[in-house]
Amino acid sequence: MALADLLGILFGPRLRLPRDHITRPSRRANKAAKASIDAMQAALDKISALPGIADIKQTKRLPRGFSEAVQELRTAYDEYFETVRKFLPGGLEAKRPGEPGGCGACYAAVMPVMAWEAIDLYREVRPWRDFPKLAQRLAAQGEQQIKDIQALHTGKDPERMRMAGKAVQQGRVDYAKRMQACPFLDEAKQRCRVWDKRPVACRMHLPVVDEATTRPDHAGWPKAVKAHNVRMPVRQQVTIRQLEKRLALELNPFMAASLLQLAQLLEGQAMPEVGEAPQRMQQDGQVTQRANRNVKHAKKFQKGKSQKGKGPKGRKK
Ligand code: SF4
Repeated sequence: MALADLLGILFGPRLRLPRDHITRPSRRANKAAKASIDAMQAALDKISALPGIADIKQTKRLPRGFSEAVQELRTAYDEYFETVRKFLPGGLEAKRPGEPGGCGACYAAVMPVMAWEAIDLYREVRPWRDFPKLAQRLAAQGEQQIKDIQALHTGKDPERMRMAGKAVQQGRVDYAKRMQACPFLDEAKQRCRVWDKRPVACRMHLPVVDEATTRPDHAGWPKAVKAHNVRMPVRQQVTIRQLEKRLALELNPFMAASLLQLAQLLEGQAMPEVGEAPQRMQQDGQVTQRANRNVKHAKKFQKGKSQKGKGPKGRKK
């Protein structure tokens, strides 16, 4: 690395994107949120203790109860977030990414995404009818994000880039300026399609400026964006890091790339929990949908119809 680059990294102005702002909740806020902090820890301990959690990469199966425990963690985090935002200036009025009035933030690449949440998100979207199309968008965006970052990397090994380094940060800005919406954003409705399963990186982000300023095509973006990011407390972050190590999936921290890595690991298949029936795939890669047996033309109703007008043993009256 050239000396000028090194000095730039050490002493130059740090380029921060809106999702990088650090918010430190006050003691009062953390005290008010104690029950949800305890619930987050309990859910994390539950996930970490699931039998076979460290073998997912080999077995390609999740322990029974994985998604339920992940949902408990999200619920506890959301309660924590709702408590903390009351203590933040402008926190209650601010719109979140993925809801009308807050979707400007959905044009920047989502990161960091942890393995446990990427797995659960993959489980959610894999059965979608439009998954093949979605996978194409994820691939195109993931590739572009990597290109934008690698274009600025001056070291020999592109694998050894510092996440907080200039290449990654400027690459993230360059990518965002392309104004490619997150593949999960329904642009017409201005809604996140994975709202209940969206990553913590989206759940924690709370821009406190008007929506136009949060759009990366705004002239002042990213500097003009003031935002809170309600990260989990330190103890829960440490537990998550330990869990990530045990999962050993080594997923890319960018959402698009991590979902693709999972699809690759699973060879496009779904990831069932132990005890769940495997999902059947069609030739075009779509998950076979279960027949809806409550529609008018379903066999059971047809049977009833054909019996009408017949005698008790199917004979005509
Ligand atoms: S996952 Fe949802 S909230 Fe997050 S950037 Fe995508 S559309 Fe927005």
